[in-house]
Amino acid sequence: MSYLRRDRALVLGAGVAGLVAARILSEHYDEVVVVERDELPDRPEHRRFVPQSHHAHGLLGSGRRVLVGLFPGLSAELAARGALTPGSGDPAMGDRSLFLVRGGTTIRIPAWWSGGFGASRVLIEHAIRDHVRALANVTILDRTPATGLTTDRARRRVTGVRTPDEALGADLVVDASGRGSPLPEWLERIGYRPPPESIVHSDVRYVSVVTEPDPSFDPEWLAILGGQAESGSSVGGVVLRIEHGLLHISFGSIARDEPVPSDLAGLRDFADRFTAPVVAEALRRSTPAGPIRAFRVRSNTRRHYDRARELPGGVIALGDAASAANPIYGQGMSVAALSAAALGRALAAGDDAGLERRAARAIAATSAEAWRLALGEDIRYGCRTEGVRSPWTARFGEGYRNRLERAAALDPEVAAAFNDVLNLHRPLSSLGSPRIVRRVLRPLRDRDPGPLSATVAAVLGAG
Ligand SMILES: Cc1cc2nc3c(=O)[nH]c(=O)nc-3n(C[C@H](O)[C@H](O)[C@H](O)COP(=O)(O)OP(=O)(O)OC[C@H]3O[C@@H](n4cnc5c(N)ncnc54)[C@H](O)[C@@H]3O)c2cc1C
Repeated sequence: MSYLRRDRALVLGAGVAGLVAARILSEHYDEVVVVERDELPDRPEHRRFVPQSHHAHGLLGSGRRVLVGLFPGLSAELAARGALTPGSGDPAMGDRSLFLVRGGTTIRIPAWWSGGFGASRVLIEHAIRDHVRALANVTILDRTPATGLTTDRARRRVTGVRTPDEALGADLVVDASGRGSPLPEWLERIGYRPPPESIVHSDVRYVSVVTEPDPSFDPEWLAILGGQAESGSSVGGVVLRIEHGLLHISFGSIARDEPVPSDLAGLRDFADRFTAPVVAEALRRSTPAGPIRAFRVRSNTRRHYDRARELPGGVIALGDAASAANPIYGQGMSVAALSAAALGRALAAGDDAGLERRAARAIAATSAEAWRLALGEDIRYGCRTEGVRSPWTARFGEGYRNRLERAAALDPEVAAAFNDVLNLHRPLSSLGSPRIVRRVLRPLRDRDPGPLSATVAAVLGAG
């Protein structure tokens, strides 16, 4: 039985989650309105309410797959703006690898073949915003903060949102307002209990800078993740190659009292002492192209709308508003894209009264793997948790985990399987398949990593 009208959908927030959701909703609703409190630039620029864009944002392969499917021509547009994109034939992309460095272990993923783009978040967001702006049935209202919900008389159904100037009616409201989402509080205001939450107090500190590498510096990598000087250290570095040959370098720490220095000399010293040599080298052999920025994220929250006892009809949350894991693992944009795709599948399945519940479940299932991966890492670093279910991490004990990383450093098949999990192409459980377990448990000396490049050899201390 048809239940929902599909005249107008309203999206809160024009971040990555809101833009991808608007694109999906445009296929199912006559009209889509996005309300965004920020002023939206016409160029790839940072915005006041998305301060995190100053910090390195890696897109995972799973997220790239969704984005290129929804926005035809995206890869070519990013390439035209100086980004590195797989398959673009750009020699800079070539055979270059992704390095995952944890202490003395370097896992090398050849050719970034299943990763994202070599592009900054502002460029990616700008490119998809242009696509969404061009959709005939989508309107983006910037400088328009949503301030609350409107409901029907019985408060059983959300009928739109309030803004300072007017009430905007909608058949469906999609909350993509980010990790500070006001939806739980708004639900309380209209008489509903907020959804149960899982919280991880990971206290992440970031310090980041965009740099221009020396002309003589031609690294063989496209990205370095982890970048830890010692395995298991809660301090590390990320270096991403972004548009116009620039490097976006971020240093991060988890649950560690000491701040990361935010001046260049201090940062270089910090990199030498606490991060892998390859990260310190990237910083030393390049010049800042902008200011050094710091950021702190004290906790990460997953809001279980799928488990809420009672919710009004007409409202759904996705992206960081529903599940915001520790950003250091680089999953947020990809999870946002995958969740919007899950919303699309729920909408395609029909207009019945169970739509919101079905969508909440699909969105939760889509983001669960990323949340579990991040949680498993955070727990390793001793982060305090609240309302966190299931000690699932027991399945991947510390011993197997360390062994897996060392095997991945030497065995391309294990590295590929590991990379598929990091990119959210396959679940963590795939690393427990008999084939991978056999390869992980084989004596390490049987493995032939091939000739070590100078950089890898330096990182491994193998001279
Ligand atoms: C330091 C840091 C580093 C990160 N690194 C990575 C990374 O490497 N890779 C990755 O994929 N992700 C990363 N993330 C996460 C990533 O930024 C987000 O997960 C991703 O952009 C999806 O976010 P979102 O669209 O749900 O929310 P946001 O990007 O936060 O966007 C929310 C939007 O909603 C708007 N808004 C909020 N309230 C209202 C309101 N009341 N009315 C109207 N508009 C409103 C905001 O202005 C904003 O534009 C990082 C995050 C942080 C904090």
